[in-house]
Amino acid sequence: MYEYTSSKTLFERAQQCIPGGVNSPVRAFKSVGGNPIFIKKAIGAYLYDEDGNQYIDYIASWGPMILGHAFEPVIKAIQKKAEDSTSFGAPTQLEVEMAELIKSLAPNMDLIRMVNSGTEACMSAIRLARGYTGRNKFIKFEGCYHGHADMFLVKAGSGLATFGIQNVPGVTEGVAKDTLTAPYNNLEAVNRLVAENKNEIAAIIVEPIAGNMGCVLPEPGFLEGLRKICDEERILLVFDEVMTGFRLSPGGAQQKLSIDADLVTYGKVIGAGLPVGAFGGKKEIMAHIAPIGNVYQAGTLSGNPLAMIAGFTLLNELKSNPTIYDELESKTIYLKNGLKEVFTAAELDYTINQYGSMLSIFFTKNKVFDFETAAMTNSSLFKKFFHAMLMRGVYLPPSAFESWFLNNAISYSDLDKTISAAKESLADIL
Ligand code: PMP
Repeated sequence: MYEYTSSKTLFERAQQCIPGGVNSPVRAFKSVGGNPIFIKKAIGAYLYDEDGNQYIDYIASWGPMILGHAFEPVIKAIQKKAEDSTSFGAPTQLEVEMAELIKSLAPNMDLIRMVNSGTEACMSAIRLARGYTGRNKFIKFEGCYHGHADMFLVKAGSGLATFGIQNVPGVTEGVAKDTLTAPYNNLEAVNRLVAENKNEIAAIIVEPIAGNMGCVLPEPGFLEGLRKICDEERILLVFDEVMTGFRLSPGGAQQKLSIDADLVTYGKVIGAGLPVGAFGGKKEIMAHIAPIGNVYQAGTLSGNPLAMIAGFTLLNELKSNPTIYDELESKTIYLKNGLKEVFTAAELDYTINQYGSMLSIFFTKNKVFDFETAAMTNSSLFKKFFHAMLMRGVYLPPSAFESWFLNNAISYSDLDKTISAAKESLADIL
């Protein structure tokens, strides 16, 4: 039986000095209940909490720990770089090497600008799309999450879906009215919005594989359809690859699905766990960013040397060893098949969506292809399942609306333990 004495004490202290005791809402376990686990360290596939409990980690810091925690080359590179100071606020050779490396992986990135988070990357990409096209509106999809900038907090996924937050106080009507929303995978709705807002839409932003309403895959033709609409209507197609970039393949979802976006946003993975984001695209568009153009965008710590060396080391590792992606996918499929067997034997209603190393279970028998179908999941069963798994040393995202992320340090024996834990958990809770 796991003891959580230290985590409980820390959560009490945390609530006295941090809103809700956490620095990002989903971490608070509010939707699954119980006390959040305070993590002390992580190595390879495992997290260790302040009480010394060990967990197999299926969050991977929400994506970036693709090769496992404390990956030695990354840690060594950060340590060495830190000796040369932690920030200059001036250009460095490493930033050039990093941009060149990303260009070599995602060839349609003529120019790329580093920022400090996925939120910054997405809000900057939309500002640029607006500045470039001279139009104000943009389309996003229900259940997709592009960070917490005002204009994205409309029918958003991730924590907003988890807590059922529809309208965010503080986001003005003026801002929200330029955010148009359509159901994921629904080209008809997009066509309607485009027709109703002729020559007013700057961009369509989409998670090419959605991960923020759980993992939801694009139907065949959906992304191709968006590309066509954008071409016909002079709208910019923005792929939010904050989760998928360098996780699904060296060139991200663009490469995996053979569709080029006009602008792409990255985060998480390119910082290997340090705070980084980036946005990039065609030169013709990116050249509108300051200091070449007047679309202003800046950051004191952007291109920070520690973040750059961490990401540079990780991306080089992924580039030089692309078989990692097949290994990760095989492990994810193994887990999916094992869970399917367990859920089927337990006569549960379930759907599992999986793409590459992303996976989600939904406790519903319906096909899950957009937010409405994702929301059919039995949240109270998920809540029980989450805690039963946690007690057996398996750390899942504490929300029915987040994707699981596998890391390559997870072994087949860890996967077997996870599948057995699922079987025992269901025996406990059903
Ligand atoms: N876009 C996507 C697809 C994301 O998943 C996230 C974060 N979960 C963001 C943007 C925002 O990134 P950040 O939390 O680094 O601001």
